[in-house]
Amino acid sequence: MSIKKVVKYGEPSLRQPSKEVHKVSQKIKTLVEDLLDTMYAQNGVGLAAPQIGENYRVFVIDVSTGDEPLNPMVFINPKIIKKSGAVISHEGCLSFPEAFTDVKRYSNVMVKAMDSKGRSFVLEAKDGSLLARAIQHEFDHLDGILFIDHVINRFEAEEVLKKCNLPDIDIEKIIDEPELSEKIEVLLKEKIKNNESAKDNAAE
Ligand code: ZN
Repeated sequence: MSIKKVVKYGEPSLRQPSKEVHKVSQKIKTLVEDLLDTMYAQNGVGLAAPQIGENYRVFVIDVSTGDEPLNPMVFINPKIIKKSGAVISHEGCLSFPEAFTDVKRYSNVMVKAMDSKGRSFVLEAKDGSLLARAIQHEFDHLDGILFIDHVINRFEAEEVLKKCNLPDIDIEKIIDEPELSEKIEVLLKEKIKNNESAKDNAAE
């Protein structure tokens, strides 16, 4: 059980797909402990095994805030079995220090996974909650997919990465999900409209 170094964007292991876990062995239990220790040490909401250089299909999340008791959640061999809706998510990643940008996410997901004792569970996270977004973000890490691959404004994100001294966006990795993108477009238009009406009100 120890705090590990978090792999930074640019290192190849972040782009490698991770292996299934065949048995929740002592090695995997230690990996889970290391992920939790490292995530808490970095004040992260989630951390996936490839981020500490271990390409196994394991991630951890804790969305508790402030005075709430810690609520570590462990996902081994996760599968997203349902997804719907759309939400604009302002995200960062422990592998991208200081870099934040808006990305496209589903607002609802249902995930099936094993916990740290090897017990299977199904969890539903809804309404664009932090948990719903974190599950998608961490799940992607297991397939070598990064949050910038879901970027809404590529040029804005490129500026952010440059400011943070991180490598450029890999344009070929950007994921296009037409149905999701359409819903995000609608949300963006609504956002602009709301901003304009807020301005009108302020002028009155
Ligand atoms: Zn991440």
